[in-house]
Amino acid sequence: MVHSGSNRLASFARRVPLEIKAAVWDCDGDRAPGPDGFNFTFIRHFWSILEKDFVEVLKQFHLTAVEDVLQWSWSREPDSGQEVTELTSCLNLMYRCKLGLNTDVWLWEADSSKRFSVKSARRLIGGHSDTSDRLGFVWNKWIPLKVNIFGWSLFLNRLPSKDALAARNIHIDSQLCPFCDEVTETLDHLFSACRFANEVWAGVSSWLKIPPIFAFGYKDILLFHCSLRTSKRGSKLIQAILLISCWMLWKARNKLIFEKSNSSANGVIGEIKPVGFLWIKHRAKSLGINEMNWSRFDLL
Ligand SMILES: [Zn+2]
Repeated sequence: MVHSGSNRLASFARRVPLEIKAAVWDCDGDRAPGPDGFNFTFIRHFWSILEKDFVEVLKQFHLTAVEDVLQWSWSREPDSGQEVTELTSCLNLMYRCKLGLNTDVWLWEADSSKRFSVKSARRLIGGHSDTSDRLGFVWNKWIPLKVNIFGWSLFLNRLPSKDALAARNIHIDSQLCPFCDEVTETLDHLFSACRFANEVWAGVSSWLKIPPIFAFGYKDILLFHCSLRTSKRGSKLIQAILLISCWMLWKARNKLIFEKSNSSANGVIGEIKPVGFLWIKHRAKSLGINEMNWSRFDLL
C-alpha cells in the first residue's frame, strides 16, 4: 500500500513555520506514519522539541524541490556498481513522482481498482510465497552441524559477503573479492565465478572422479550432487564434500581478509581431504572409509 503522494508535505514546504504548524495540526494523527513509524500525533505531542528540525527539513525539501536538484548528504559515497545502479533507479522513481495539491488518499496497488480487498491481499501473498529456498537445501548428517548451518546460510544468501555488508551500510575498505581483487565480492562470485574457486572445484571434481563442476552461482554448487547419476548414498557423500569445500573456501577467504594469510587453491583442497575424512568416516560407518579408499576416492 502506498500513500498517493506527499501532497501535504509539499504544501508544508511552501509555507512559513506557523503555517507548517497549522498543517501539522490539521493532519490525521494516526495515519500516514513515516518510515520511522512516527505519526502526526507523536509530532504534535513533542512539537516544542521537534519544531525546529521539522521546519528545517521541510524548508530544505522545498528548496531542493524548487531547484529540481537533490542535495545528498552521504554517510558513505556509493562505490560499487550495484549501489550506483540502485541510486540511478531510485532517482528515476523520484523524478517521475509529481507532487500535487489534491487531497491525499490511500491506494492499494495490488488491485487494478486500487481498492483494498482481502481477496486481492490473499492473491498477492500467494503470488509471492516462494518456498523453494526452504525446500531446496537438504541437511546432511555426515558432516557437523556447524557446516550444515553454514551451508543453509549460504543457500539463503545470508553470509556476510562484502556486497551484503555494503547493502546494510556497513563501511568496509574495499568491496572487491579478496582472492582476485577484481570484482565486487558477492556469494555467487566467491563460490562459483572467481578463478580461485574454480581452481578448487577443478581439484575437487578430479579427486571425486565426477564431471567438471561448472556453476553459474553458489546454488549450483550446493545442488550439484542432485544432477549426478549415482546412488542415493553417493549423492549424499558428494553433497557432504561439496559443503565441506564451501566451508573451507569461506575459511580461506576469512583468513585472507582478517589475518592477511594467503591460501592457495591446492592448500584448500589439501585441507578438504583430511577434514572430510575425519568428519565423514565416523558419521558414515557404513561406507567403510579408510585412508586408502578416501585418498583415491574409491567409494562410489
Ligand atoms: Zn574473485
